Amino acid sequence: MERTKDYIHSGGITTAVDPGVIITPDMYQQMTNILLDESLPMDYWLIPAGNFTYSMAGYDAEKGKQLAEQQTVQFASIEQIQWLPKYIKLFSDGAMYSQLMQLKDGYIDGHHGEWLQTPAELEDSMRPYWHDDYTIMVHANGDLGFEAAIDIVDKLNAEYPRSDHRTGFHHLGITDVDDIPRAVKQGSNFSVNPYYTHILAENYSANGVGAERAEVMARGRSFIDAGGLLSLHSDAPMAPAQPLSLVWAAVNRIGLSGETVMGPQERISVDEAMRAITIDAAYTARLEDQVGSIDIGKQANFTVLEQSPYQVQPKEINQINIQATIYQGKVHPISQSNAGMQMTQTTQTALNALNQHQGEHGHHHDHDHDVCETSLLFQKVISAM
Ligand SMILES: [Zn+2]
Repeated sequence: MERTKDYIHSGGITTAVDPGVIITPDMYQQMTNILLDESLPMDYWLIPAGNFTYSMAGYDAEKGKQLAEQQTVQFASIEQIQWLPKYIKLFSDGAMYSQLMQLKDGYIDGHHGEWLQTPAELEDSMRPYWHDDYTIMVHANGDLGFEAAIDIVDKLNAEYPRSDHRTGFHHLGITDVDDIPRAVKQGSNFSVNPYYTHILAENYSANGVGAERAEVMARGRSFIDAGGLLSLHSDAPMAPAQPLSLVWAAVNRIGLSGETVMGPQERISVDEAMRAITIDAAYTARLEDQVGSIDIGKQANFTVLEQSPYQVQPKEINQINIQATIYQGKVHPISQSNAGMQMTQTTQTALNALNQHQGEHGHHHDHDHDVCETSLLFQKVISAM
């Protein structure tokens, strides 16, 4: 965990949001001991995993909400590790890496996707949060999972209309362009892991998904052109916790071979991608008045780069050296910048854990224990470090 802290800091991060967390006393102890041991030069925001508390409560939505709220009281915010107030993460369909997302037209090899929460469960568990003005983040990976989540938000918004709900659809591996305008109209926003394109698009073109859908995975342009607000996330270790690598991925969309541009029409500009890791990401966490841009009255949090992302070749954005962060006005130098696409030890450990995970589980999925495939993997990676 010590190394995790350095790793995140070396990506130039001053604010991190970790959605879908369930804390145990051991974890809390570890987190507070190690992360707060010296200075943790960043705000680290947590969001409870509402699907987990819902199943813990025997699928009683109100009780599930109470359990999620108890988490934030029992494991109170401490210094920079805080719960985002009135935020919850819920889940639609399965993961991209294990090809368990739900696809409208299915898989080319005939296997089936899964629901982490079925649409009925998602709607039932979301209702009390919606009616209590929570901000809801929904994990959705496939076009069918995305469509189901949009339908549910429309339904709840008809029951109890809200003007600034900022529901966020997260990950968004495979999406149908026709669904995007509906999500924009209902006031939802989009957070994409653009690294999927780099790691998976070439592979999935041949396996499971097929070229037509795989090439435009983790769309960018379509969300922005529909008038949507787009942020980029790493879902570390699903992608490096290096925001400039996310910018690089979204701007260039280069496949793992290093040669092919995947779905060039979905590339976004450097400026759009820089907004997506700063002010537009801050908006999704309702922190846009505190961080995300440099302005009077905001926190003095900055990242010091050796070169401007606007001035280097787009393909070299991930090579920019990160010299330091400034957190609350204090300089925190970075001795070893994680610039570049070299496999860091952390990424390697993550990929190993991922392979192990696929080996162990294949397409099997344990509904009650899979809080989020990602956070399980992250725990594995941390324990392997
Ligand atoms: Zn997720």
